[in-house]
Amino acid sequence: MRHRSATPNRHQALERAQRVLTGHRTADPALSVSAAPPPSVRRRRRSSAVIDVRDVRKTYQMGDIAVHALQGVSMRIERGEYVAIMGTSGSGKSTLMNILGCLDVPTSGTYLLNGSDVRDVDEDTLSDLRNRYIGFVFQSFNLIPRTRALANVELPLAYAGVNRTERRRAAMAALDEVGLADRVGHVSSELSGGQQQRVAIARALVTNPALILADEPTGNLDTVSGDEVLGIFARLSDEGRTVILITHEDEVATHARRVIRIRDGQIIADEQPAAEGAPR
Ligand code: ADP
Ligand code: MG
Repeated sequence: MRHRSATPNRHQALERAQRVLTGHRTADPALSVSAAPPPSVRRRRRSSAVIDVRDVRKTYQMGDIAVHALQGVSMRIERGEYVAIMGTSGSGKSTLMNILGCLDVPTSGTYLLNGSDVRDVDEDTLSDLRNRYIGFVFQSFNLIPRTRALANVELPLAYAGVNRTERRRAAMAALDEVGLADRVGHVSSELSGGQQQRVAIARALVTNPALILADEPTGNLDTVSGDEVLGIFARLSDEGRTVILITHEDEVATHARRVIRIRDGQIIADEQPAAEGAPR
């Protein structure tokens, strides 16, 4: 992760991120600005999807050996969808998530996020996109040790330059949303695994992201805590957020509306098992 500093460039980057975010209609009015996207945000290939991946390949070079982690993945995910990406260990799920979250770039192929080709977006703008638009949840929680839940949740807002009072208010609200209003002063070692993951979800939510990316979020949890976490994702989906849940467990995938199966870096199935007809 690159070093951040409060330079005039950073202000411009924030504005560019805002424009990328609002290149198309957003469900969240807080993310909306009326300005039209500037010519610098090129949108040669138009797309209304939140996520539009076209023939994406990712090859890791390990000395003489090329590991083909993604071998031509194409998919579209529309705003408000709740999608599980399923596959066994080593199938390329985390590689795909890293690309969707703009944490890594494809070796070849195209990724349009909200209609903008991420290749056309500079690194400052991308880091603001990650911070403001995407909420990440990982298997291993990734909380800062010896730091209170409240401070962990405030962190993304500190990066975004939000003032202290507003940070506190938003962090309290996010912790309340995951049922931890009574644990805000606890450090990680004083929390159960399930509670730590809920703090991590609060941290992902505090910037009010439109897109949630979760990589094996229940992988380290017992069934009860895992169900609590999945209950939170279901609620976030009901609120209209786009949720992408990566898992290797069938049981977990059944919580999503759509299941994309990946094997050896390729999509082998894309199904909507519980098409209840209730439009979102
Ligand atoms: P999953 O998340 O489904 O378990 P990954 O995306 O982590 O799968 O890995 C897909 C393949 O790419 C695996 O063969 C893995 O060993 C390889 N791989 C993942 N990350 C790297 C990396 N940074 N360097 C080299 N190989 C990697
Ligand atoms: Mg993985």
